[in-house]
Amino acid sequence: MSKTEVLVIGAGPAGLLAAREAALRGVDVLVLEEHREVGVPNHCAGLLSVEGLKRIGVRPSSIFIQHEIRGGKVYSPDGTEIRVTCGRTRAYVVDRTRLDKMLSREAVEAGVEIFKGFRVESLLIKGSAVVGAQGQGRRIEAQVTIDAEGATAPLARSLGLVRKRYGVLPGVNCEVSGVEVEPHMVEVWLGREIAPGFFAWVIPLGGDMARCGLACDYGEPTGRLRDFLERRFGLKDLPPMRRGFVLTGGPIPRTYGDGFLVVGDAAGQTKATTGGGVILGGLCAMKAGEAAAEAVERGDPSARFLRRYEDWWRRELGGEFSSMSSARRLLNRLSDETLNRLFAAFKREGLESVIGGLVEEGDMDLQKGFLTKALRRTQVLRTLIRILGRMALSELWRNLTFK
Ligand SMILES: Cc1cc2nc3c(=O)[nH]c(=O)nc-3n(C[C@H](O)[C@H](O)[C@H](O)COP(=O)(O)OP(=O)(O)OC[C@H]3O[C@@H](n4cnc5c(N)ncnc54)[C@H](O)[C@@H]3O)c2cc1C
Repeated sequence: MSKTEVLVIGAGPAGLLAAREAALRGVDVLVLEEHREVGVPNHCAGLLSVEGLKRIGVRPSSIFIQHEIRGGKVYSPDGTEIRVTCGRTRAYVVDRTRLDKMLSREAVEAGVEIFKGFRVESLLIKGSAVVGAQGQGRRIEAQVTIDAEGATAPLARSLGLVRKRYGVLPGVNCEVSGVEVEPHMVEVWLGREIAPGFFAWVIPLGGDMARCGLACDYGEPTGRLRDFLERRFGLKDLPPMRRGFVLTGGPIPRTYGDGFLVVGDAAGQTKATTGGGVILGGLCAMKAGEAAAEAVERGDPSARFLRRYEDWWRRELGGEFSSMSSARRLLNRLSDETLNRLFAAFKREGLESVIGGLVEEGDMDLQKGFLTKALRRTQVLRTLIRILGRMALSELWRNLTFK
């Protein structure tokens, strides 16, 4: 039996950021990671905004940055392109293995201890409280346990903290070479035939290399990615693909309990529009680390005290999560034919540059502002209503605050 003050399950970005923040406040923190190496295996596309990295307190470094992104091209199912270019670097393509390793070094420097190769099998429960975790014949007691176990979250589910059934999409990612791509432009390919419920992506890595992937809500993503790469680049021989889950269903209904907090993918804290979870999940995790340290300092790890973590993320980010979820649901309802008509109308009516301007000044992580501004543009709204109908927009409309 060992003891610690704060126990973190999982050394992904959420777990490491929570651990770092708690340790910086002077409490004892232990992270348990099932793999023998932090950041391995890596299934992530690694597209992170410049502002986002700043928000989670990570200084850009050539150690993990592979390429810079200055814009994007979105394709309708019939291949119509909407192009958005920015005059500056908006995002970095990062090597997630290296980023996670750097976060683990920072956590260790802050005083965190990391046990690698330790799989937590279950939580330790006393009455209504989580008092630690166990696995591999060892029990570790803690005042506060932070669950950062990632997308499938069996430990959180064992407590009844269950996500909605939809929005857990199998995704695949791979790196290809010998392809022709525009150097600093991401590609997003929409359509039910390519990737129902999500999209396919092409992220340039410099030279003739790109990271490509796809997630979908039905069908097998590997076969779909193979078809997409053949169609896009004429590729037949494919490199190994890495699989993971992309979350588009929004946060789970409750992320705290007695002695317990859930963060990152385990809590569904991702952008429903893109599945990106490193930044918003990381931000929430930092707040969880802070709340856990305060609970230890006060000797009060009760749910009543720890709920400040959830109060914070719901207040600061709840509107973002729900707007992005509405936008995702709206997109998922559109047939390929409707998407084609929408893209054609945007091109015909000169709205590409309007959207481009909004994206240029918008925030890649906090997308509510962009969505609100887009619907406030009479021209954009009129076209959306004409093609999609007023009803289709009503949920998104309700979620955006028009003051
Ligand atoms: C194909 C794909 C592409 C993506 N692309 C992007 C992108 O471009 N940008 C972006 O922001 N996000 C992207 N994401 C999402 C991103 O990967 C996640 O949001 C992010 O990794 C979540 O971080 P996390 O720390 O919550 O979970 P994870 O990164 O999944 O980390 C969880 C950790 O917990 C460990 N663990 C799990 N169970 C246990 C256990 N029982 N005991 C001990 N350890 C355990 C795991 O080994 C893992 O190290 C992508 C996801 C996929 C699948």
